Order: sequence, then C-alpha cells, then structure tokens
Amino acid sequence: MNKDGFFGKWGGAFIPEILHETFEQLKSSFKEAKEDPDFWQQYLDIMSTYSCRPTPLTFAENLTRHFGGAKIYIKREDLNHTGAHKANNVMGQGLLVKRMGKKRVIAETGAGQHGVATATMAAKFGLECTIYMGEVDMLRQRPNVFWMEKMGATVVPVKDGSKTLKDAINEAFRDWVTNVDSTHYVLGTACGPAPFPEMVSWFQSIIGTEAQQQILAQHGKPPARVYACVGGGSNAMGIFQGFLDNNAVELVGVEAGGKGIATGHHAARLCGVDASPGVAQGYKTMFLQNDDGQMLETHSVAAGLDYVGVSPILADLAEKKRVRFASATDDEVMQALDLTMRMEGIIPALESAHGFVQAFKEAPLLGPDDAIIINQSGRGDKDIFTIAHAFNDPSWKEFIIARGKEYDK
Ligand SMILES: *Cc1c(COP(=O)(O)O)cnc(C)c1O
Repeated sequence: MNKDGFFGKWGGAFIPEILHETFEQLKSSFKEAKEDPDFWQQYLDIMSTYSCRPTPLTFAENLTRHFGGAKIYIKREDLNHTGAHKANNVMGQGLLVKRMGKKRVIAETGAGQHGVATATMAAKFGLECTIYMGEVDMLRQRPNVFWMEKMGATVVPVKDGSKTLKDAINEAFRDWVTNVDSTHYVLGTACGPAPFPEMVSWFQSIIGTEAQQQILAQHGKPPARVYACVGGGSNAMGIFQGFLDNNAVELVGVEAGGKGIATGHHAARLCGVDASPGVAQGYKTMFLQNDDGQMLETHSVAAGLDYVGVSPILADLAEKKRVRFASATDDEVMQALDLTMRMEGIIPALESAHGFVQAFKEAPLLGPDDAIIINQSGRGDKDIFTIAHAFNDPSWKEFIIARGKEYDK
C-alpha cells in the first residue's frame, strides 16, 4: 500500500473535507496500535474470552473420502460469537475506539449480521450505538433488528433509494459527517476509504495466522489451496494473509454467481464481465455499474455477498494474479450445503457455501498428499428460511406461519 492508501491502482480515500481530520486521527491511532504489541495481546485476550478463538481447523474426513482427492479442512469461523468472522472486525475496532476515547459507534448493515455484531461490541464496551439499515432489509431481517434493539442499539430505518445496504452506507456516512468528534464508523468489511481496507484485513488476519499454524500441526505442510467466499472481502483477506507470502499456496476467492453470470443476476465483480473500475463510497475498485456509473442491482441467495463493490486489496491481488477468482451459483450452493450437512453435520452459512462449491469442484483433481482449506466464514442457522424454501422442504409452510408473513427472498 502506498501513503495515500492505494493498493496498485485500487483503494485510496475519496472523502469529504469535513472528515479529513477524523481520518488522520484514525490513521495515526491505527498505526500506533499496530506497532504496539500490547494492543494485539489485548485483542487476542478479548477474542479468546468473549468470542471463541482460536477457532478449530476441522478435518472433513467424510467429504474427503467422498471426493477421493485432496484432504479437506474447514476453518471454523462459524464458532465465533454471533456466528461469523464479523466478530473479529468489530471487537478490534471496538478496542481502537476505546483507545481513541470516542463514546459512540455507528454502522451500516444489510442482512443484519454486522449490525448485531456491532451491537454486541457496543454493549460490551459501553458505547452508544446507532445502526443504519434499509427499510426493506429491516422487514426481511426482523429477528436481527429485535436483538440489536435488545442489546441497546438504536436501529434507524433508511427510506432512500432501494432501501437496502448501499442506501444504509450513504446514511451512515451522513451521520458520521455530522457527529465526527464523538463518533466512530465501524465499517463492516475490507472496503471503503483507507485505512478501512487495511485495518479490517489486519483484524481478520487472526484467521490466517491460526490456520497456517493449525495446518502445519495437523497436515505437516502448507495447504495446496485455500478457498474463501468474497462479499466485501474481509473473511477472504483474513485467511489469505496466513499464506500470501508462500507462492506455492494457491488462493481462491469465490464470488456470488447468483442465477448464473450470463443472466446478469449475480454479484461477480472480479470474475464476471459486468464490473468496471469506478470510484464510489470513498474508494476505487471494480464496481457492478453501467456505463454511466449507475450501480447495478446485484443478486445472491446469500445476503452477505450481495454487494456492488469489493475490497481494493483483492482487486489488486486479482490483477497481480496472486488470487484466482471463481463464482458459484445459488443452485450449486444449495447442493454443497446439502452434502456438507449430511456428511459432516456442519451447517455453513449460505455465503460460506460458495467457497465449498469451488473446493468440491477442485478437490478430486488433487492427491491425498495435498490439503485444501475452506474458510467457513459463518454458520447457516440464520439462513433457515431460505434453505427450507430452496429445498422445497414441507416445513417451509410451518415457518411461514411461525413468522406470520411471507418471507420474500
Ligand atoms: C458478512 C458475511 C460474509 C461477507 O463478508 P466478507 O467481508 O466478504 O467476508 C461472508 N460470510 C458470512 C457468514 C458473513 O456474515
């Protein structure tokens, strides 16, 4: 990264003048924290006592036998507090907020997972918390709204535009500009203006550091390949950092192929044909946009992958061909989930299952001396309605009754 926050030609910080001072403070606090071994120790302590770190690396013996190729290992980020790798980011930023002496945090959320994670952190650290969420998303994700409010957060419905994630991000920035002295914006992924991509990736690097040691202990040598799903890119950056400097380890990012790349209903920024370079939401990356720079509608069965932009660090690693990108369709994701649940008794989140799809395609092509690691970014409990619907499970009807209304995704 250069001094202006660019990774190759991607990233940067395109921010309004009024935020400059806050960004300077954030950058210097982050730099100090990064150079202070006590800070990382504090982070490890909280992650091992409040979340569930180190998370295990599970050998998927039955899946390995089924595919008859590489040994398949699963890094279990689903076992974190609130069920996903998002805990790593919010707790890290929470410690930084305390260091900066700020008293209030805000965040955007789409499916509600980042909102819930931020609300837990704010409750734990005694911070005031406001979450911006599109009105449409609030209806779809009622249980998450309930928990955020119960943990003391204020959830603000965003009624602009499509009333979903990108509108919530714009509203959160608006709040930040108004309350810049008291408030920190807990950005949810490795995107946005510098230093967020680097900072979020740094907190998430705990995944890769653990996985690198665990695979050596369990398999005796580094893995041949590592797979991770890519929404904004934070869980992928997290695990990839454990292996980036070893060129013998192939890194594979899997994007949402949705209904198929050719249909246009997907969220493939780095392996599709519909994205182009652009500057929006404070940074430069490959965005799904039309020729006028208007953002396109994205689609994925996994809400966490349904985003128009992608980490500038991954855009750079894609260009340098250090990370290979693939996509998985909604249908393939359901098949991979079905197999993983039956064979291993593990329920990956719909997002995570994208990584499983590509790993399952490639495992048979490798030999038993090779290991591959799939980063299971989260647990699938949250996806029960979507999964029941996709499998056409009879319980689907009962779920609708239990929820009292049609579930619309
Ligand atoms: C939010 C989320 C993602 C996508 O975010 P990244 O920043 O790309 O990691 C992936 N998996 C799960 C389970 C999530 O909750």
